[in-house]
Amino acid sequence: MNKIPEHLVAATKVADGADDEPMGFVESFAGYRNLRRRFAKVARRGISIPFFQPRDGVSLSTIRWQGQELINFSGYNYLGLSGHPHVSAAAKAAIDKFGTSASASRIVSGQIELHNELERRLAAFIGAEDAIVFVSGYLTNVTVISHLMGRADGVILDSGVHNSILTGARLSEARVMNYPLNDFDNLDAQLQKARGDFKRGLLVGEGVYSMDGTLLDLKRAIEIKQRHNLVLMVDEAHSLGTLGKTGRGICEATGISSSEVDVHMGTLSKALASCGGYIAGSRSLIEYLRFLAPGFIFSVGLSPPDTAAAIAALDILEREPERVNRLHEKVQLFRRLAIEAGLPMQGTGVAPVASMVVGDGDSCMLMSQKLLEQGIHVQPVVYPAVAQDGACLRFFVTLNHTEEQFRATIPVLAREWESRIRFGKETPAS
Ligand code: PMP
Repeated sequence: MNKIPEHLVAATKVADGADDEPMGFVESFAGYRNLRRRFAKVARRGISIPFFQPRDGVSLSTIRWQGQELINFSGYNYLGLSGHPHVSAAAKAAIDKFGTSASASRIVSGQIELHNELERRLAAFIGAEDAIVFVSGYLTNVTVISHLMGRADGVILDSGVHNSILTGARLSEARVMNYPLNDFDNLDAQLQKARGDFKRGLLVGEGVYSMDGTLLDLKRAIEIKQRHNLVLMVDEAHSLGTLGKTGRGICEATGISSSEVDVHMGTLSKALASCGGYIAGSRSLIEYLRFLAPGFIFSVGLSPPDTAAAIAALDILEREPERVNRLHEKVQLFRRLAIEAGLPMQGTGVAPVASMVVGDGDSCMLMSQKLLEQGIHVQPVVYPAVAQDGACLRFFVTLNHTEEQFRATIPVLAREWESRIRFGKETPAS
């Protein structure tokens, strides 16, 4: 019989209750017990849990929460297209025509004409031969990476990638190599030693990194890909619709042909005001995924309203490319005002994600709570989304934000930053 893993045995030893207290299945998990302890500690410190707070209305530059209107930096409705009348009308018309669900996997009978249209439009917009859409962005990374790579292969990730990429890499059973974000000299040195140890190699990065708004150094990534014979995949969840003159993403922003990226990944949930994910690339890549990717063939087709909403959002983006420039102006203004106020705002150039590292998670949650009390909604990002000491306030800047909203936010933020409480490690007696 296999031995029970050491960490599971250890989990039963960190019980809060008496040793003879009967424990349920989940209560025996170390992770669950840590979570309960964390809630208790946060409550003792007078901090309320900022997660799963129900809001009302569309997530625009303001949101309604508990009957109040707040300035909102917690939604990635970058181009203001969720709630746009054309997008909402398209979703409603799709419901009237096709219902609310695709009601089957597309390979069986879930396919509707809107699916083909969205995929054609996405491929053309990105500059790829073909595209395929999945019901979730998270699922897209998990199923595609785990299906493309296998035990003999290598998946090469930087320190900033999204959990969906890491999970896909782990499930693939390929060797996982890690390097510090954008430190391609470090990666080059590692690959010179280790490239011979695996067959195919997939290098995965993000156009705009979701946690802090860093931009991928695409030119260097391509150099390394060519030098070490790798396949390059770029997740454009936060860069599609936000980077480049017309919102085509990191390739457009850097003047690099989209054919240099082998696997274009993105989500429909951000600039495109919908829900779902996509892959764009060569005709053969998409054909392979369409017939064989488990997360596609064994899952329902994208819902009719989600599909129609993404098409309508693309319509607007193509018709009104100046929206992207207006977003850039807003982002630059926000960063400039924050930096002038002495705030350590992270992120590069026009990336619409701007984070301020606060340090420990409790300090960060408390700051978020105090901002909320003053009418500003910005979410804390805490462990395990970031390192234990890397908790940050993450601002999503959108086209709908106004200069007045920034000028109202920054002084409050600066005051809270100055007077922030730093919580150290909690001692058992505290
Ligand atoms: N990739 C990145 C970089 C993300 O930030 C996210 C989530 N925001 C995803 C993938 C998953 O996308 P979705 O939330 O649309 O499932």
